[in-house]
Amino acid sequence: MMKGAYLPGNSTVEMRDIPVPEPGHGEALLRMKSSTICGSDIRCIYHEHLGKGPEGYQGVVAGHEPSGRIVKTGPGCRRFGVGDRVIVYHISGCGVCNDCRRGYMISCTSEKYRRAYGWQRDGGMADYLLAEEKDLIHLPDELTYTDGAQVACGFGTVYEGLQKIGVSGSDAVLITGLGPVGLAAGALCRKLGARKIIGIDVVEERIKLALDLDVCDEALRSGPDNVSEVRKLTCGYGVERAVDCSASETARATAIRATRKWGRIVMLGEGGRVEFNPSPDIIHDQKTIHGSWVTSTWLMEELVERLVCWNLHPADLVTHRFPLESVGDAYAVMAAGKCGKVAVCFDEELTAG
Ligand SMILES: [Zn+2]
Ligand SMILES: [Zn+2]
Repeated sequence: MMKGAYLPGNSTVEMRDIPVPEPGHGEALLRMKSSTICGSDIRCIYHEHLGKGPEGYQGVVAGHEPSGRIVKTGPGCRRFGVGDRVIVYHISGCGVCNDCRRGYMISCTSEKYRRAYGWQRDGGMADYLLAEEKDLIHLPDELTYTDGAQVACGFGTVYEGLQKIGVSGSDAVLITGLGPVGLAAGALCRKLGARKIIGIDVVEERIKLALDLDVCDEALRSGPDNVSEVRKLTCGYGVERAVDCSASETARATAIRATRKWGRIVMLGEGGRVEFNPSPDIIHDQKTIHGSWVTSTWLMEELVERLVCWNLHPADLVTHRFPLESVGDAYAVMAAGKCGKVAVCFDEELTAG
């Protein structure tokens, strides 16, 4: 038997004793090592079960950002074996629809087979996790399991978005929302050579954290003058690139309006809305707005390779680590929002960092 954490939807966590699963064909059993909490866990599950469709929580073991070590494999595994360190791409797709064939299992169109870990099939907030081999990404020795857990959703999502808009040394980048995704955006823009990184948030602790971690050159408090403040920091032009990680209506409008002519904006933050005026805000200034949802298995592998080359450790954004027994405290800290990333850790990962 093992312990697993469930989210009944009233801002509490329920621990249950459940059997350790047995890997079937093409499946691997992971000893969990690190499982980070995502903003979407709080937004769609923890307080209330709000998610629909791909975000519908089916009363399974929570946690969609898992990383661990394979302890057992079922028959038919082709690449991974016992002892391998792995990250789980957090959506198991049908494998044969057009989106799955592109590696974007997040967008799998099969209602019957698309199941996300921690949403529709058991996730990482347990001692062990049953995963399909095709969902696994190799975790190199240079990275810790907590680095890996964050690649699963946060860093992968940001990397994908940055690929869509392209970031280089020519660019000043605005990041609206300095939660874990915004901090990851800053860390990756830094390695991609952005010449100036400007962040905006409402929470004082997050502004301070962004500056302490040196993932932003300037961090502004959210307010009505943000657009002119950003212009002032960019010789009057505005930024070349903007990344919205806030899902806030005003911050999104700021991201659009503080981007200069010919600039690109990507929206990563989920939920909410935005109002803008197409002609002055994007058409006449030749701007492009991208939407980006999670990432693909191949870009996740590429990101892992680059993290090693860059010596970039996503776990540096983790401000709180909890053992599985205290998983309730972990969700409560994340829900309060005055933190970086929150991780539930096992074994050696608990004392690391
Ligand atoms: Zn996530
Ligand atoms: Zn599919």
